[in-house]
Amino acid sequence: MRRLQWVELTPDYRCNNRCIGCFAVQDDGPSMTDVEIVEALRRGRADGADCLWLGGGEPTMRRDIFRMAAMGRRLGYTRVKLQTNGMMLAYAGYAQRCAEAGITEVAFSMKGASSATHDRIARTEGCFDLMARGVGHAREAGLALEGDLLVTASNAVELPAMVSLGLSWGLRSFRVWLLSAVDATRDDPAVRAEVPRMRDVVPALVAAMEAHADVGAGLLVSLHTPACVLPESLHGALFDAAAFGLRVVNPGGHAFDLADSPIEGGHFLPGCAQCRHRPSCNGLRRDYLAVHGEDEFRPVA
Ligand code: SF4
Repeated sequence: MRRLQWVELTPDYRCNNRCIGCFAVQDDGPSMTDVEIVEALRRGRADGADCLWLGGGEPTMRRDIFRMAAMGRRLGYTRVKLQTNGMMLAYAGYAQRCAEAGITEVAFSMKGASSATHDRIARTEGCFDLMARGVGHAREAGLALEGDLLVTASNAVELPAMVSLGLSWGLRSFRVWLLSAVDATRDDPAVRAEVPRMRDVVPALVAAMEAHADVGAGLLVSLHTPACVLPESLHGALFDAAAFGLRVVNPGGHAFDLADSPIEGGHFLPGCAQCRHRPSCNGLRRDYLAVHGEDEFRPVA
């Protein structure tokens, strides 16, 4: 990993959604103590990080989330990002408390361009409307807004509409995630059926970029699509996990660099050795190859 920039805390794995394929939710799972949180924040600062990412599970399930953010700011983190399904921000005053605690930005997890799609994938009736209300409150509180767009086989066609909707809400940029079946312990045919095929996602990515060409570079970051499946016009959207410089810290003090996560790829095919993108490529997810095979990936001369 190059310079450490971000520390992502996973304080625990509780969540008020039950999204298809989510392997992070665990209501009775381990939980970070105050001591662990302070230690992770201090160590991150000592190692050079100045950006804090509050993840999970759903971090707004923690009552100490404001204290965590304020502690981060006191220790010198200049940016504090809340990654959330947005439901708690629907409550009056919650977004304002986020801003007052020192949270600077909110990343909303979108799973569709309509309540029908989003609620179905999150398996929580009414959560899209709560998120939409939460976005409005966060905007009023002056927080910077962005979107994490989860793409599945059944919602890929909505990707351009998700970006359009997010922009109309005031979201400035979007990370595109492909649903993973990475957790083999919960192998589920319904999840595997929702792992989107990259060749079906790429046209939606292109359409989203073309529809919003006026917004320019930086609108989309595509986390899981290697260069060999993307047209040159989308190479500016490639995600470099190592350059991003993010350390994830989980309960129990277990920490790892994002670039080492199987979620980001890490697996290379024999032909990759001849590919000109190999030095900067994050590689492929093994779970993707197990579902869809290798035939989409060809080394680029
Ligand atoms: S290194 Fe392999 S996976 Fe990466 S872009 Fe090249 S062929 Fe595709």
